[in-house]
Amino acid sequence: MAEKQHMNLVIIGHVDHGKSTLTGRILLEAGAIDPHIIEKYKKEAEEKGKGSFYFAWVMDGLKEERERGVTIDVAHKKFYTDKYYFTVIDAPGHRDFVKNMITGTSQADAAIITCSAIEGPQAQTKEHVFLATTLGVKQIIVAINKMDAVKYDQAKYNEAKEGVAKLLKMVGNKVENIPFIPVSAYCGDNVKVKSENTPWYSGPTLFQALDNLSVPEKHTEKPLRVPVQDVYTITGIGTVPVGRVETGVMKPNMKVIFEPSHATGVVKSIEEHHEQLPEAVPGDNVGFNVGGVAKNDIKRGDVAGPVDNPPTVAKSFTAQIIVLNHPSVITVGYTPVFHVHTAQVACQITEICSANRAGKPLTDLSFIKNGDNAIVKVKPTKPLVIEPAKDFPPLGRFAIRDMGQTVAAGVCTEVEKA
Ligand code: GDP
Repeated sequence: MAEKQHMNLVIIGHVDHGKSTLTGRILLEAGAIDPHIIEKYKKEAEEKGKGSFYFAWVMDGLKEERERGVTIDVAHKKFYTDKYYFTVIDAPGHRDFVKNMITGTSQADAAIITCSAIEGPQAQTKEHVFLATTLGVKQIIVAINKMDAVKYDQAKYNEAKEGVAKLLKMVGNKVENIPFIPVSAYCGDNVKVKSENTPWYSGPTLFQALDNLSVPEKHTEKPLRVPVQDVYTITGIGTVPVGRVETGVMKPNMKVIFEPSHATGVVKSIEEHHEQLPEAVPGDNVGFNVGGVAKNDIKRGDVAGPVDNPPTVAKSFTAQIIVLNHPSVITVGYTPVFHVHTAQVACQITEICSANRAGKPLTDLSFIKNGDNAIVKVKPTKPLVIEPAKDFPPLGRFAIRDMGQTVAAGVCTEVEKA
């Protein structure tokens, strides 16, 4: 059998709406939890006369073990469906989630948004919907969870569904293409098996919806962009920058330019895992030997591209940002560090052009704070390559970091060239 294609999945939603329980349920139904662990808790639950609640015991047990720092199978969080091989990546709330999403170390290909049918969307539901959309997660599945707790009431489901749909629409998602599924992470309804408790629901189960996802496109038709992670000199070979191809195709004999360093050279050979490649395509992590460039001519944060279509160095740029975690307020003049692809450059916010708070436009644009969504003008303090996200998605997303945390995240919408 051919190897199944890999997808990164993130499970998001308001605290207590069932992210961990649903993750556990998915792993259990997919057969990804070590049977020994399940047996252990099942036995424990039976001994205490709570056999039917063994799933809750499994979840609680795993949580306790995690808290004690015990590494167990489930921590890897990998599972297979009929069509794909999934890895569940860290959720927002985890310290480096936003940064990892931006730098691509754990860019999610799809997100499951959990929303409790008991109370409908809450503050973090909105924050996570906005964040996932801003960070470029294109495929979304909505799980309206805890259906058991509302007696599988269709009206409660519809209420929560409408609430989440409204949030998704606010940031430009087409909800017609998004599956909404009534589930119970606790009891397993509509997770792998269609539930008899929801006869009014005719859509896919969660597993079917996962199989209906499509593999993310590789943008080979676009100009080449390779953000440089590191530069090595290898005796007998020469200068070897290392990075991941984000768009386009790299082939030997191509003339490339590294911006903003402005060094040019010719690609001599491309390697991945110690094997020569005839070409590198998006997603490939490669080392490539370039002639005519010395190690010190280029550095981490540069982006390689074709000489006739070089990466854009910005004098200033316009961006849409969401303030996630700032201890006070953000005003014009604020100069935190922007993490864009592999670059880290201090940039100044020079104008707050417009902003929304709780979905309503602000008239006072003197400051923005947590939860706000704003259009801002930004000026890098040093040369920086950044591209509009609509042209080069991975080169247009950024995290704003200050005082050791991610204070905001955003996407570049327009660039004024240097
Ligand atoms: P998280 O904070 O989003 O990860 O939420 P948890 O998975 O920790 O769940 C929060 C609480 O809701 C826990 O007490 C769970 O047992 C409970 N819960 C989660 N899913 C369900 C469900 O489908 N039905 C019911 N009744 N309770 C659930």
